[in-house]
Amino acid sequence: MQPDDIWNKPVEFIKGVGPKRAELLRKEISVSTAGDLLTFYPFRYVDRSKYLNIREINSDQVYVQIRGRLLSVNLVGKPGSERLTALLRDQCGVIELIWFKGIKWIKSGLIPDQEYVVFGKPAWFNGQYNIPHPEMDLYTPARETAADPLQPYYSTTEKLKTAGLDSRGIRKVMKTLVDNISGDIPENLPDSLIGIFKLPDRETALKHIHFPPDPDRLKRAQARLRFEELFFIQLRLLRSRFYRQQHFKGFIFSRIGDHVNRFYREHLPFDLTDAQKKVIREIRADLGSGKQMNRLLQGDVGSGKTMVALMTMLIALDNGYQASLMAPTEILANQHYATISRMLEKLEVRVALLTGSTKAAERKKILEELQQGKIQILIGTHALIEESVRFASLGIAVIDEQHRFGVMQRAQMWEKSPNPPHVLVMTATPIPRTLAMTLYGDLDLSVIDELPPGRKPVRTYHFEESQRLRVIGFIRKKILEGRQVYIVFPLINESESLDLNYLKDGFESVGRDFPYPDYSVGMVHGQMKPSERDYEMEQFAKGRTQILVATTVIEVGVDVPNASLMVIENAERFGLSQLHQLRGRVGRGADQSFCILLTGDKLTHEAKKRIDTMVNTQDGFLVAEADLKLRGPGEFQGTRQSGLIELKIADIVRDEKILKSARQAAMDIMKHDPELRFPENRTLAMNLAQLEKDRINLSRIS
Ligand code: ADP
Ligand code: MG
Repeated sequence: MQPDDIWNKPVEFIKGVGPKRAELLRKEISVSTAGDLLTFYPFRYVDRSKYLNIREINSDQVYVQIRGRLLSVNLVGKPGSERLTALLRDQCGVIELIWFKGIKWIKSGLIPDQEYVVFGKPAWFNGQYNIPHPEMDLYTPARETAADPLQPYYSTTEKLKTAGLDSRGIRKVMKTLVDNISGDIPENLPDSLIGIFKLPDRETALKHIHFPPDPDRLKRAQARLRFEELFFIQLRLLRSRFYRQQHFKGFIFSRIGDHVNRFYREHLPFDLTDAQKKVIREIRADLGSGKQMNRLLQGDVGSGKTMVALMTMLIALDNGYQASLMAPTEILANQHYATISRMLEKLEVRVALLTGSTKAAERKKILEELQQGKIQILIGTHALIEESVRFASLGIAVIDEQHRFGVMQRAQMWEKSPNPPHVLVMTATPIPRTLAMTLYGDLDLSVIDELPPGRKPVRTYHFEESQRLRVIGFIRKKILEGRQVYIVFPLINESESLDLNYLKDGFESVGRDFPYPDYSVGMVHGQMKPSERDYEMEQFAKGRTQILVATTVIEVGVDVPNASLMVIENAERFGLSQLHQLRGRVGRGADQSFCILLTGDKLTHEAKKRIDTMVNTQDGFLVAEADLKLRGPGEFQGTRQSGLIELKIADIVRDEKILKSARQAAMDIMKHDPELRFPENRTLAMNLAQLEKDRINLSRIS
């Protein structure tokens, strides 16, 4: 028998599972094999030898375990809305237990006057605590000694529960499985790593993660499995980079010619910052190296990424290739088109714009000229990745604000040329290093860590609803000084008309506060026709409207230097990175700019933290770190749809140290044995192949 036979055995064959439960496990939690089950980790452990006094219960406790005598069990309420209540007494108090569902069944199992161990989450109701839907165990002295000291708790689903697979049911099945394992689980890490990091072996770790003999061994098991998970992700990323570099030769752009030189000498509107120069050097080195570039360019809002993109594209042109620039919104694509056409005016470069609103005839012409190689730079939206868009020789694809694009959309730019173009993806959403390592570990990273000179930090203030008059006064003052103002309203879901009404109400009340003809107010939102939206944006950009009422459609990219005040209504409803992006719309001119966060008078603890972070922090990276800590990586912008961060046990915020050593370990291995051919790395190769099997091939994605 192969040692790993147990791993691949269908769960059906574990005693107590059977075909029906097996089917449910597969459907509900994607557990089909014993291996899947073993890697279905508990989400918490409870020390079942410790009891709390009823008096000590408070609302900070996620769960409590108490022990006491059941005084009474009562059905209360009218038929149809009945509930079951019971009173439990310990040495120092009485607490109510309450059930709303499954009442009959639960009632039949409860025996008054017996001693129970009760486990649940306390709730505050009508001036006292109760415990809704607690787990009930008859207390027996034997229980104390027999029970595992740290009991694992598993997440489950309604359907699993009805099949008896609540946390306790899963625990039972797990116990059966774990008890049957002995020398069956092969090691998947090389001895050297086990030695260096003093990790427990895999089988021990898997056994102890479910049934830890003591807290110390639980810790060791967790550390090992977290390391393992992060290590394989890193190895996979580094391997796919290696694979890409082996298989795709990049175009070699060795020439710096007329386009770059003339532009640089004669048409550059400002001196480049040192950071821009550094990044352009990094890109040039890639482009000349013969490997296909896959570079992520991070730079805070306003740091001047567009100029880097432009210079990069000009290098492609100098070497006889075309370039493209894709932006997530039409407004942004238009703006790029306008800026870049203006800057290249004297250079006789053919630049074209392709978006969803390009007219059919125009579009046809663009597609033709693109194939003939007449158009040198194509700027646009998602329209660029459509099948019909074919280049004669696409040398470089730039993707702006890439977190707005899905993974697949990005991959499609690869197909636009027989030999994949160099790819530069840019983002103003600063990604904390740990997350970048995990999400984009296969990309090279460039960072613009400096803003153009003369920028003053945007002064940020928090005002509550009751201070609105002051805010209105401040807006008036700014307009009198000749400045312009954004007022942003939250939309939860752009497709809901309710939200739109909310924005329209906002627009009307702004109209009342700032009556025409002294003030003219424009409005943009996501449901407008692009042409109307562009018109409104243009009016604002040209200074014909002083106030622009908007949704977050203005979040990315738009550049109106005269706008020096950003007012964000209901700021508590925005995420941190969104607030930071919005704030980045001002502070682009020479004047002192301001950002006012208006909120309700009462804020949740979380919301208060977000607002405080904004008031105290200008640096996008620090904002992003705070965001990651507050919300966790799953919610972090762009990471959910990427599907790359489905970690089972590691957490890239908490486990930053482990992540770093895992990445270092993977790099060391790749350095000596990139093909994983050495005997000591053979298990790694096998395990990696196994992991790849279940995944879409992400190796071509930038
Ligand atoms: P982002 O990185 O957010 O895309 P942009 O490329 O839109 O930033 O640049 C923001 C503004 O800064 C633009 O108005 C641009 O012209 C200006 N800018 C860019 N680089 C410099 C520089 N080196 N010196 C002065 N202004 C610059
Ligand atoms: Mg930009």
